[in-house]
This record gives sequence, C-alpha cells and structure tokens, in this order.
Amino acid sequence: MAKAEGILGVGSSAVKIHHLIKAPENYPESIQFRESWDASRPVTVYKTPETLPDGTECVAATVILRTKGCAWWWKSGCTFCGYFNDVRDDVSADDMFAQWKEAKMQTNDFEGCKMVKVYTSGTFFEDRENPVEWQQAVLNETHEMGIHLVIEAQAQMCTPEKISWVAKNHPGCTVAIGLEAYDEQVLRFHVNKGFTIKQWHKAVDLLRENQLRVKTYLIFKPPFMSEGDALKHTTKWLVEVSKYSDEVSVNPMNIQKNTLVDRLFRNREYRPPWIWSLVEMIKRAHLEVSNLNCRVLVHPTAGGKIRGAHNCKQCDSEAIAAIERYSVSGEIDEFSTLDCSCKLVWQAELSNDSTFPVPIGTGTSRRGFATDMVRAP
Ligand code: SF4
Ligand SMILES: [Zn+2]
Repeated sequence: MAKAEGILGVGSSAVKIHHLIKAPENYPESIQFRESWDASRPVTVYKTPETLPDGTECVAATVILRTKGCAWWWKSGCTFCGYFNDVRDDVSADDMFAQWKEAKMQTNDFEGCKMVKVYTSGTFFEDRENPVEWQQAVLNETHEMGIHLVIEAQAQMCTPEKISWVAKNHPGCTVAIGLEAYDEQVLRFHVNKGFTIKQWHKAVDLLRENQLRVKTYLIFKPPFMSEGDALKHTTKWLVEVSKYSDEVSVNPMNIQKNTLVDRLFRNREYRPPWIWSLVEMIKRAHLEVSNLNCRVLVHPTAGGKIRGAHNCKQCDSEAIAAIERYSVSGEIDEFSTLDCSCKLVWQAELSNDSTFPVPIGTGTSRRGFATDMVRAP
C-alpha cells in the first residue's frame, strides 16, 4: 500500500504534537546536557540573609535539588518556567537522599542557619515528583534541628490529607505557592498555570487551618501583556493577595532558556519589565500593603541584564539596590533620590500603552547593539 505523503505524513508512526513543537526538554542536546550532571549532587546550595516569621534577621540556606521535576511541566507547563533545564527524570530515591546529605555536608548541618529553603523545581510533597520517605526525612530533620523550613507547591496539590501530613511532620513551616497572577484569564492564557484562583484560595484556607505560613509568588509582566498593563494589574494583584498571605514575593520576569517566553523574546515580541515599573508598583501599593500584616519582597533575578528587569543600563544597579533595600527596610524613602533620563522613555511607553490598542505593548522589544538586533533571533 502506498504511503501517505504531504500534509497527511509520510507513513512513519505518528508523534504527539507536544514533541514536535514544544518539548525542548526532549531535544537531543537537552537530554545530553541534563544527563551530564551527577544526580547525586544538588543543583546548588547557598546562604543568604533572611527574615524569620517573627521579624528577626537570620541566615537562610537555599538548597535547590535535582529532581524529576514538576508534574505540570511534563504535562503542559507554565509559559515562563525553565526549571526543566535542571531536572532529570531518572532521579531515584537514593539520589534524593544523597543530594540532601551533600547539602548538609556543604553547610556543616546548616550551621548558623535558622531557615532552610528546599526547592524541588515543582511541588515538594507531590509523590510522583519526590519519594515520600525523602519528604518525611526533610520535614522531620529540619523540624528537629529547630530550623524554619520553606517549601514550594502548586495550589491543586494542597489536599487536606497532604497538608495535615506536612503540618504534622514540620509544624509551622512556610508553603510558597506560585500564584503568578490574581486574575483567572491571565492565569489561563498568559501563564498556563494549571490551577484556578478558586483552587489557590482553597489551598490558602487549608494552610491556615493547619497553622502553616502562606507565601505567594507573583510574576511581573507575563507574556502577551504590555508594560502599562503589567504595572496596572500587578499593583492591584499585590494589594489583593497580600490580604491572604504572610509574605508576597513579586518576581519580575527573567527569561529562562527554551521557554515560550524565550521564544517570544528572541523574536523581539517580549521585553522584560523596566525597573522603573517595579519602583512605581511598590510606590503605588506601599500604603495599602504596609497596613496589612504581610511582608512584601521584590526579587529582580538577573536584574540589569538583558534577560532580566532592566532600565537603560546606566541606572540599573542603583535602582536594583534601592529595591533590595526596600525589601529589608519597607521604607518608601529608599527611592527618593533615584532618577535618570531613561525615565522619560519609560513614561512615554506607559502612556502609549494606555493610549493605543496594542495588547503586547508599544515599547522597543530589545536593548542592545544594532548589529545584534539585526542578527537576532
Ligand atoms: S508549576 Fe512551577 S515548577 Fe511547574 S511549570 Fe509552573 S512554574 Fe514551573
Ligand atoms: Zn537610566
């Protein structure tokens, strides 16, 4: 029988469209890169200054583990998430215990740390992602050491059974949920989050019932949104979610490799946010948020770089330093002396965004050398 050709194919067995157009995790080079890592060592372990729930300053250790990765990513995945770059789907329970042991060895059993953040590129207590006996060991050990634990989860994974189990094994720990946007349409069409606002509220209620702390991540400027809209919406979301959270961390978009946002960026259809927008968001939300019992952090990962929040380059480091100072002091005065000529360009972009019907924005999508812009993507 003749084989079908053209739009009907060439007779070879069918593959899922997912593997043809997305699945960067399945590129031969991605697999090679991933498997070149030692699965018995964590991605990274580092210490930073932090603040405990009671407001006292402390040192926190962050442990990023090489896991099987987020179940949602393997099914579909958030548009901006590049965590899959760090995961291996063949990680075993022994590897997880070995990584945890290595993290303790590197920090001398978390010496001097009152807080440990254990990040698994997905949901800590999702059994398909991480072995249950390993989850229990981490919860129990950190509790016995008297260390405050921060773990991450997707809202729909917060079931009554799991949350009460977590609370039993490490009472009072913090569960951080990447809500990203307090808007159903944005969650669905810009972020592809995989859960709804209603599910997030349910998760928050469950955490509260079990006396666990609620940390919420928001993303500043998801794809398919202008700078002007990002500022307007995120300011509103920040005020709203602060009412339900103990801590809110706003993460300005940073472009992670092989993601949908990366593709838009390389096609010059996306520019990471201006640092001025972050400063403006803080100024607008400050009064309302400071009346609530919620800590607000803004973390410009890769700030000042072309793939992170940036201004004109000249004023980037000063503006980022002011944001970082604000995250510690909570004082709006940190921004009083900031200024630069590029502020006018940013203001013009905001004004154009709110005037013209251009949903993805009016700003120039790239900063950099003209020759590079011609060559890109
Ligand atoms: S839920 Fe979290 S880990 Fe999973 S794809 Fe989304 S951002 Fe990435
Ligand atoms: Zn500037």
